[in-house]
Amino acid sequence: MDSKIQGGQLNEAKIDHVHMEDSLFDYLCETPDKLSITRFKTELEKTGLRETDHRLKESMAKIASIQSENIKREGHAYDFLDRETFKKCIADNIVLIAKAFREEFVIPDFSTFCQDIDKLYEKGKSNTAGTTASYIPQLARFNPNLWGVSVCTVDGQRYSIGDTEVPFCLQSVGKAMTYALVLSDLSSEVVHQYVGQEPSGQPFNMLCLNPNNKPHNPMINAGAIVTCSLLKKDLNLADRFDFTNKMYKRMAGNEYLSFNNSVFLSERETADRNFALGYYMRENKCFPKGTNLIELLDFYFQCCSAEITCESGAVIAATLANGGICPTTGDKVLQPAAIRDTLSLMLSCGMYDYSGQFAFKVGLPAKSGVSGGVMLVVPNVMGIYMWSPPLDQYGNSSRGIQFCENLVDCFNFHNYDNLNHNHEKRDPRVRKVDTQSSNVVTLLFSAFNGDVTDLRRCAIAGMDMSTPDYDGRTALHIAAAEGHLDVIKFLLFKCKVSPFAVDRWGFTALDDAKRFEKVEAGELLLKSMQDIRPDYLYQPHSHD
Ligand code: GLU
Repeated sequence: MDSKIQGGQLNEAKIDHVHMEDSLFDYLCETPDKLSITRFKTELEKTGLRETDHRLKESMAKIASIQSENIKREGHAYDFLDRETFKKCIADNIVLIAKAFREEFVIPDFSTFCQDIDKLYEKGKSNTAGTTASYIPQLARFNPNLWGVSVCTVDGQRYSIGDTEVPFCLQSVGKAMTYALVLSDLSSEVVHQYVGQEPSGQPFNMLCLNPNNKPHNPMINAGAIVTCSLLKKDLNLADRFDFTNKMYKRMAGNEYLSFNNSVFLSERETADRNFALGYYMRENKCFPKGTNLIELLDFYFQCCSAEITCESGAVIAATLANGGICPTTGDKVLQPAAIRDTLSLMLSCGMYDYSGQFAFKVGLPAKSGVSGGVMLVVPNVMGIYMWSPPLDQYGNSSRGIQFCENLVDCFNFHNYDNLNHNHEKRDPRVRKVDTQSSNVVTLLFSAFNGDVTDLRRCAIAGMDMSTPDYDGRTALHIAAAEGHLDVIKFLLFKCKVSPFAVDRWGFTALDDAKRFEKVEAGELLLKSMQDIRPDYLYQPHSHD
């Protein structure tokens, strides 16, 4: 419980949750005294919470034990809970459950969002461009049809589609993670005495340094080898590996994180370029004192060979999106300042030689790896991990890139998508009812107040100026009833709203002008109706 909530506030919060437990039961039960467990779990899943979510552990354990007692007693599972048992079951995790059902998560309408993700995933499926990396056999063997997308929001809402439980290795995605770890451990000042912050404009494994004889940035091989040399440099190799593994696992919310030894051995076997980079950098004094180059390169290959799945990768991405706190465990894994720096360099350098175009088109920090993974971060909203082995000419997953580009065509996630004036893209952070009703309220009040300036702003922002409220009343009806000629002219002639729209009682705007004796408004409306339908004759409408 938040320590800031004290005294009276705490009591209020408790009482509120007691009500919530009852309301949940009332809204979800199909018969007055029984609630289906399956139904409860299905509705919960629609909010993005999984029943395996660690944060629901207590409630799910109670439900499971009630079910197993039933099996013991009756010989079969019983799907229903009565009110008191239900309340007891959910009490321990009611804060999270209440948040879910009140639609207070960052993506309130999560199931609609998931339907959109499904569509984007399907588009990616038909993209067969690209070829799987072949420099080591472990990568070359992957089936090119494998394709998975996993989402984890900063509230821990989860969604996965496709091959999201197949393990694959991090490869260069690990570069962003080790950089974040090093920054959290040392400071940005210390780390950047060894590595720059500029895109190199060269291929990721190019044998080159910047004018200060440092690697250009931590997202290319030379830079990542240097960040590895800084990571817990005073420990021995085994302990450095353990530390990194443990931290990766914490970023992934304790989900799948393994080590692929055959990838590691193959990487080491085919590493002439990385060895060359290492010696070149040693000659140029790029490493801290006491660095053992052979050990360091082993450590670098081990970081590339850590294995994840799309599922666990999405949690890692969400930890970055959430300022370093893992959303599913609440574990404060990384420092917020380290996240800021990591995301900045992912944005400018994370996607090989496509980084500039990616920042331009997608406008979000991302890092990709030669195994076909793309880790995308929508800061403060969600992490998305895409994985498909075929790579494009830049070494990025073809399907992953397509998915990212389609995603920002659909949602206003691009860094510079303007939240206020872009009505063509959806903002899944906003509740549907909220946007719809607040738009209508703005329109009707502006019409009521005779405020053409405000109506013009609404029109420019792309609002539908004929949107009715729940009674079918439109801005034109209100303006007619109030006799605001300027507003009526603006709506009719600039916005081309129809003067024939009727409210739920069948009244047109002209009826309103007549009823409220707004003579000039009535004449204006009648004329515009006859301009559209020359045979139109006004017949007073009366509702009975
Ligand atoms: N293990 C690869 C290397 O160091 C990383 C490749 C990548 O994902 O960019 O060459």
